[in-house]
Parts: sequence; structure tokens; C-alpha cells
Amino acid sequence: MQDRPDLAVTRVRHPLKFRLLQVARIQPLTPHLTRVTFTGEDLDDFVSASFDDHIKVFFPAPGEDKPVVPSAGPNGSVFPEDQPRPVARDFTPRRYDRESRELDIEFAMHEAGPAATWAAQATVGQYLGVGGPRGSLVIPTGFDWHLLIGDETALPAIARRLAELPPGARAAAVLEVADPSGRIEFDTAAELHVVWCYRSESPYRGDALLRAVRDTYLPEGVGYVWAAGEAASMRAVRYHLSTERGVDKSRIRAAAYWKQGAVAVHENLDD
Ligand SMILES: Cc1cc2nc3c(=O)[nH]c(=O)nc-3n(C[C@H](O)[C@H](O)[C@H](O)COP(=O)(O)OP(=O)(O)OC[C@H]3O[C@@H](n4cnc5c(N)ncnc54)[C@H](O)[C@@H]3O)c2cc1C
Repeated sequence: MQDRPDLAVTRVRHPLKFRLLQVARIQPLTPHLTRVTFTGEDLDDFVSASFDDHIKVFFPAPGEDKPVVPSAGPNGSVFPEDQPRPVARDFTPRRYDRESRELDIEFAMHEAGPAATWAAQATVGQYLGVGGPRGSLVIPTGFDWHLLIGDETALPAIARRLAELPPGARAAAVLEVADPSGRIEFDTAAELHVVWCYRSESPYRGDALLRAVRDTYLPEGVGYVWAAGEAASMRAVRYHLSTERGVDKSRIRAAAYWKQGAVAVHENLDD
């Protein structure tokens, strides 16, 4: 894409900052996805330059009100030595509003794990810690088409991308959720084609998504594919697009947002 400098993907670094935030509102979006709105005095200089940014969320230890939150040292996070390290997981800053100092995080509600368990019991006034984002990968909006692929954990990033695409952008989203109750509406100015598929109708996780991606029409022109979800499913999607559909790997960003049977996994998939 040397002839299209406007389509260069760029990296931006942000100063590392840790914040203690308080729950202001809780809104179940579907039975499988809950939006929690946080506020905090120190949210006024929060920066999130890309829809696929991630923040580290720190959870309180059992029986504690507030999580242990590290501070930013010259070489990264510094944890207090006299306290156990807090449990932390990665999440997407779905919406940030500087004026009201509000940050939305949307939690996929699955069966086990401290983050999902916390979200299921969340109440107004509770505290969480948030670190970052440390950096952003800015993917231009000027591609001829955008293909967004993912499961519930990717819905916050995909919904944010769709909200940020300009009028006239051409986008398709291929989304795997538990069952039809997991569908959400998207607020977008783009010309959007959405395909939903359901785990309830497929023999194993990721099968419905891969089949839907196989059936997806890829238009002419220079497009960009963004995909996130379960590790094995994302590997299969990336392999299919790059080897069987000829999409240049430099135009695919695929990430494992979680891994079946493992905790706190984040892996950008490349060769
Ligand atoms: C960059 C990035 C951004 C992310 N953004 C979001 C976001 O905005 N919203 C969101 O909900 N998630 C997001 N995730 C995924 C989230 O971090 C993981 O799902 C995380 O494992 C959840 O932590 P937990 O404590 O609930 O489960 P863990 O303690 O990590 O895992 C416990 C068990 O649950 C399984 N598990 C984990 N996640 C799921 C799931 N979604 N469905 C079924 N089983 C699961 C694990 O395989 C493990 O067996 C993001 C991940 C990354 C890397």
C-alpha cells in the first residue's frame, strides 16, 4: 500500500496512568453483555485513540472495597510490596466522555472468572482500578471496506468502530453470540451489513463464526479485516482469510481476546 499513505496503520503511545473508578450505572444490554458506566475525578485526562485500545481492569480482593492499584514507575507498573497483587483482566474502553468524566466498559457474562463474576454482582458505588491505555494502534477509516469479526468480547470494540466510521464507509460485521438474545443494535453512519451466528446452533465453539466468515463476500478494493475472540477460533478465521481468500496479512489484525481453558489471555496473532 505504498501508493496509499492515507491507509498506513500507526501506533500512538500514551503516558501510563492508573485510576480508581466508581460504578455510576449498570445497564444489561443483553443476557450475555452488561454495560457498566464508571466515573472518577482523574478521568478528565483519559485518552483512547483507537477502538481496539485496551485497559487493564483491577478487581478488589475478596472482602475488600477497593482494589490494589499500582502506580506508574519509570519501567511500568509498580505494585505495593506489602499487598498481594490484584487480579487484573483486559477490557475495551467502549465510550469515554470527558465532560461527564464517564467511561463505559461492557462485560461479556460467561460462567467463570473474576471479571465475569464481578460484573454479575456489580452495584452502584463499587470501586475498580483501571490502568492505561498505554498505546493505540490507529487503523485508518479510509479503507474501501471494513470487515469486523468477533464474539461477545469483541462486541464493545466493534460497536465503537462502527460508531466512529464516517458516513459512506462500507462495513460488514460477522458476529458469533450464544443465541439470538445476544444481538445488539449498532449506531453507525457506515453502510453496514451484519451477519449474526449462534453457538446454540453449532456443534462446537467457533464453528458458526468460521462458516459465516467463509460465506462472507469480500468486495474489490483495499479492505481491512479486524477480528477478535477465542484464540482457536481467531486462528481459524485468520488462516481462512489469508490462505483461502487471499487477504494480505498486513490487512488483517486478529487477536485472541481469551482462550478456552486459560485465564487472562491476550495474543495478537501473527506468523
Ligand atoms: C485487548 C482485549 C480487550 C478485551 N475487551 C473485552 C471487553 O470489552 N469485554 C469483554 O467482556 N471481554 C473483553 N476481553 C476479554 C476478557 O479479557 C476475557 O474474556 C477475560 O478472560 C475475562 O476474565 P474473567 O476473569 O471473566 O475470566 P478468566 O479468569 O480469564 O477465565 C476463566 C475461564 O473462563 C473462560 N473465559 C474467559 N472469557 C470467556 C468468555 N468470554 N466466554 C466464555 N468463557 C470465557 C476462560 O477460558 C477460563 O476457562 C478483552 C480481551 C483483550 C485481550
